[in-house]
Amino acid sequence: MKIIFYSTKPYDRIWFELLGKEYKYEIHFLETGCTMETISLSKGYDAICIFVNDQLDKEMIDYLYQSGMKAILLRSAGFNHVDLKAANGKIPVLRVPNYSPESVAEHTIALLLSINRQTHRAYNRTRDFNMNINGLMGKDLINKKAGIIGTGKIGQATIKILKGFGMKVMAYDPYPNNQLDVIYTSLDEIFEKADVISLHCPLTEDTKYVINKAAIERMKKGVFLVNTSRGGLINTSDLIDGLLDGKFGGVGLDVYEEEEGIFFEDLSNEIVKDQNLVRLASFPNVLITSHMGFFTKEAMQAIAIETLENAYAIENNLQLVNEVKYQS
Ligand code: NAD
Repeated sequence: MKIIFYSTKPYDRIWFELLGKEYKYEIHFLETGCTMETISLSKGYDAICIFVNDQLDKEMIDYLYQSGMKAILLRSAGFNHVDLKAANGKIPVLRVPNYSPESVAEHTIALLLSINRQTHRAYNRTRDFNMNINGLMGKDLINKKAGIIGTGKIGQATIKILKGFGMKVMAYDPYPNNQLDVIYTSLDEIFEKADVISLHCPLTEDTKYVINKAAIERMKKGVFLVNTSRGGLINTSDLIDGLLDGKFGGVGLDVYEEEEGIFFEDLSNEIVKDQNLVRLASFPNVLITSHMGFFTKEAMQAIAIETLENAYAIENNLQLVNEVKYQS
């Protein structure tokens, strides 16, 4: 099988190069993203493998179909970047839903602890031997209320850690899991009562801008908001307005709605033109990381294994357990 990989970085090759040899797959790694301009590079390959900011629209999918592509392999759990309707009945789309949910949950907690106790700001101060702690006061998390939106694998792993902190956890999910030791409630109740809100649902038409002006207005003053899911869950302009109003104790973002072309890249020598991102980064109570929740050794290894297992299932006409199907 010949597979073309888009949007690869040196760290992607570590496991894929090793494992690709075991599966006897010919893998071609491209650094470039997958766009209408670069899609023709996939001609002659059996499968295309893309990452979270490679947007596959209808036109690109039609091109892949006409060129005989057998599979679209996603190196991610999220699949909002692929037009599933366009792929339906033409090319199977396979994702990696089961790699270390703890990797993302632990990063969620890293962001929460940092925005609460401001370790990122303390680090900058002490490096400069500014040992003044003025302005860095946090809050105890014990007995505070956490609101989790989406109680799938990552939401559950996050809940487990928050319970370890002695927090009271409420959750919202349209498909509640009765096995979980958590109180399910409405979104509004989460907005109104939670001291910490953490997003763990997929980005869909239903969840787009779940955090908007109306939701922010309902939130408690001083609330901590963490998003390690997808940028489009938050209306960035409304978030900025909320920050300017002094609503938030802190905001931790691992994802951003306009991250494509910015996240994963080194733009330190360039003038960043995205005004909202620049504004967000300027708030002392906002901490942004560059979509790295998944980025642990264990998760990267699991992503490589599961992606190539998906390719193996295609090659051998096995059951496609990780296929993402279009739902009308
Ligand atoms: P999952 O499928 O196990 O869980 C998602 C949960 O969201 C499900 O329980 C589902 O019922 C729920 N949900 C669906 N619609 C909802 C709605 N309208 N409101 C609230 N909940 C809703 O997925 P997961 O593995 O836990 O991953 C969650 C998300 O995390 C992914 O969709 C992806 O966007 C994101 N993610 C981010 C990273 C990262 O590196 N930052 C890595 C992996 C996944």
